[in-house]
Amino acid sequence: MLFDRRRFLQVAAAGGLASGMLMSANAFGNQRSNDPVAGERPRQDDGLKVVNPRARVPLSFIIDDSTCLVNLAYYAMPQFAHTWPEREDYRHPWREWSREIPDAFVREFGEWCAERGVRGKYSIVPQPACVGWVDRELPGWSQQELQSSLELVRSLMLPNWDIHPEMATHTRVIDTKTGRPYPHHGPDWMENWGWTNGKSVDQLADYLAYSLNILKQAGLPCEGITTPGGFAGRVVPELAQATLQSVRDVFAAEIPHYFKFLYTGEESVVPRVEYAAGLQSARPECVVSIIGCTGDWFGGWDGTTPGDPNRFITPDLQSGRMVEVIERGEPAIMVCHWPGIYYNGAKHGFHVFRTVVERLHS
Ligand SMILES: [Zn+2]
Repeated sequence: MLFDRRRFLQVAAAGGLASGMLMSANAFGNQRSNDPVAGERPRQDDGLKVVNPRARVPLSFIIDDSTCLVNLAYYAMPQFAHTWPEREDYRHPWREWSREIPDAFVREFGEWCAERGVRGKYSIVPQPACVGWVDRELPGWSQQELQSSLELVRSLMLPNWDIHPEMATHTRVIDTKTGRPYPHHGPDWMENWGWTNGKSVDQLADYLAYSLNILKQAGLPCEGITTPGGFAGRVVPELAQATLQSVRDVFAAEIPHYFKFLYTGEESVVPRVEYAAGLQSARPECVVSIIGCTGDWFGGWDGTTPGDPNRFITPDLQSGRMVEVIERGEPAIMVCHWPGIYYNGAKHGFHVFRTVVERLHS
């Protein structure tokens, strides 16, 4: 699977520059698009077309809800149930599940992917469900286990996967001044739901920077973030700007990106370059919204919903969502949740994934 975001953008940018220069030296300049979220765009000649890198469709794989050792679903379920007592889907028997997703499985998955050139995004939730802090202590595991888990992510995953925080806890909102959750349990105090409503760029950037800094302390460099559930759903322009600001501040990343959206219908799933500015300055900037093209048809967020490889690509390789998006020529990015890949040890999501990758490669 070939998906290198940086190269994709470089090729896109080079295409824009070349077309600008063809027009004439004097005409070379940047245009502001009408869309304030998009920002500046280089002038482009109608005769030029930006194509995919190596003229091939990039594929990628987004993994949400992963972290070190902690099975996020096990610990998040009772917290979600407390917030939403009436919701059936939060009454699953979490006590019967594995509290850990072992590093042996990370190794098995990571090596399988590395052998096949599979790349993508792998979340490390920094303070997973308030269990601990990946840069300090993970109660329930020894310090040695935590350190070797981090080392496994650095050595095996980092070369092929973008590491993202999926905000601080993926459950309770943390007071960034104290590092403790706020005392309230309602949806307005959960990362997944209402807390971000009405928040400013600076407020969001503070929260993102808090989360990014934990990963920095843990020795995990990031160029982007993933939003947990409905985080920032009503303040998307602010989220985009806060991503640009915080990822640049904490990691000096050249092109910060975020994963918030997936579309499974007719909408384009091409990554969106947003808030492009200073294109002719020494320090041009933009942020990119990376868009998934599938639902989690692997094993669900909590590892209880069996998936189906045929929804991605059928055994005759003729149909399925991946085939549809590849035929459109748009980057095709699958989305899953790590507890569903592990499936409490049954590895159901991993089996679905292997079948899909084998079909895509055949
Ligand atoms: Zn998530």
